[in-house]
Amino acid sequence: MLIAIPAEVLPGEFRVAATPETIKKLIKAGHTVRVESKAGQHAAITDTAYTEAGAEIAPHPAALYQGAQLILKVRAPLAHELPLLPERAALVALFDIHRYDHLDALNAKQISAYALELIPRITRAQSMDVLSSQANIAGYRAVLLATQYYPRFMPMLMTAAGTVKPARVLILGAGVAGLQAIATAKRLGAIVEVFDVRPATREQVESLGGKFIEVALNDDEKAAAETAGGYAREMSEDYKLRQALLIDQQARLADIIISTAQIPGKAAPVLIPEETVSGMKTGSVIIDLAVDSGGNCPLSRSDEVVRSENGVIIVGHSNLASLLAADASALYARNLLTFLSLLQDADGAYAPHNDDEIIKATLLSQHGEQLFGRAPAHTQ
Ligand code: NAD
Repeated sequence: MLIAIPAEVLPGEFRVAATPETIKKLIKAGHTVRVESKAGQHAAITDTAYTEAGAEIAPHPAALYQGAQLILKVRAPLAHELPLLPERAALVALFDIHRYDHLDALNAKQISAYALELIPRITRAQSMDVLSSQANIAGYRAVLLATQYYPRFMPMLMTAAGTVKPARVLILGAGVAGLQAIATAKRLGAIVEVFDVRPATREQVESLGGKFIEVALNDDEKAAAETAGGYAREMSEDYKLRQALLIDQQARLADIIISTAQIPGKAAPVLIPEETVSGMKTGSVIIDLAVDSGGNCPLSRSDEVVRSENGVIIVGHSNLASLLAADASALYARNLLTFLSLLQDADGAYAPHNDDEIIKATLLSQHGEQLFGRAPAHTQ
């Protein structure tokens, strides 16, 4: 196949969908790879590095897409990218599909589109799970971002000028991002407390040195907390009240909150309401990773820093992985490479494994027909 790797155009998107490492493997498998000039500039990859890996460099998008059969991207094409896309090509990217407006335009071009965020979190798909590889980075970067706004040290220090207390970090949601945030905050010497609705996360939290705080659950609630796929379920109103009280108490003691709570396909749960923020300490910091799905804190705004009346700093960064563009691209590109094994036959020709549950879950449109709208496998 002729594979095209464009430069990303979404503002703030610094990642790229292929690295010299993955390009060497694609070429070894018999493909031709064309990369748009400067596609890797923010991810510390030069055009020369791509050329040395065996890729062709295209000076502009029109030259890049000519004859391309497969397009590997980080973000789904924006309106102004659509006219240049070749008809009947396959396209693999993160679509943020519930908010993507251009599926009709892709159908009109008979483009087969695959949304990587719909890859089910099953064991076999772990090596292609871009949401996990990128959330891991976001969890790490969220803690570093908090240190930029927090006006104190993270670790305890004993100095001749007196003792500095360690920061108290509260992490809401112990999924992929939350677990990496725990590990990072611990490495920086903070005291880390963690809350998650899934009791099963306690062991992981404790193995990273976090203190698991919990709402007491009755047996029915324990059984209901997690889906068969390992995701959180929405809990009862009574549970939510007890949870709100617990988080409110802990938030007032915290110096930093990293909130990562989500239930797939739903708006993020509000865990840090305005009343809780108003009870928090001046100078404390909230990093709301769920900002783009409504936010765990209603005061957070996408890509803005908000200061509450009582001096709490609330940061809503929508693309933390992009701030670590080199490693984020390296992991994303490896995820993609594994995913591609489901799109080709033994000779490397485009032949999607349409019966595979991963392809079924991710395929948005094929031969001009929109397929998105079937229940995705991972929410069942
Ligand atoms: P995940 O599904 O692995 O983890 C989410 C966790 O939240 C789960 O452990 C779940 O049990 C928990 N949870 C759900 N409801 C809760 C509640 N009411 N109280 C406490 N915990 C609750 O997800 P992830 O991959 O770690 O991503 C976490 C969030 O971060 C998502 O909203 C994701 O979109 C977002 N994210 C943001 C960025 C960014 O740059 N801003 C990057 C990656 C991920």
